[in-house]
Amino acid sequence: MVTALKQIEHIGIAVKNLQTTIPFYTDILGLKLLGIETVESEQVRVAFIEIGETRLELLEAISTESAIAKFIEKKGEGIHHIAFQTETCQKQLDFLKNQGIKLINEVPKEGAHGNLVAFLHPKSTNSVLMELCQPPAKSTREEVENINEHSL
Ligand code: ZN
Repeated sequence: MVTALKQIEHIGIAVKNLQTTIPFYTDILGLKLLGIETVESEQVRVAFIEIGETRLELLEAISTESAIAKFIEKKGEGIHHIAFQTETCQKQLDFLKNQGIKLINEVPKEGAHGNLVAFLHPKSTNSVLMELCQPPAKSTREEVENINEHSL
């Protein structure tokens, strides 16, 4: 049994255009925009919206090769994935693999905010794309947040 999943780290939502989408979350829903970041490895621009202890991750493709571009082409905009927070990403991946769960990433890669992230294959999760997300050690996280503040 996986016991090291702590909370919903974020919910990923695929959008066509961040700029036109963000005001709905900030001006109408009254939520706080934490920052916008480009994740080159995923070919996406990501906006984080704070809600309570968790976040919404709005994802906009920056190239047609991006998984988000392909997702929107196939299914349209909408909920793309759910991310669970863990402190032991690799350990959880090894465990899941041993249980016969199909993984997209057998080794975590660097995502937004310096998090280590890995996706489980929807074939093994009733078609829900699930992400494991391990926050960086606290000192690194503060550094990253400071950088983000300056770039906003
Ligand atoms: Zn995510």
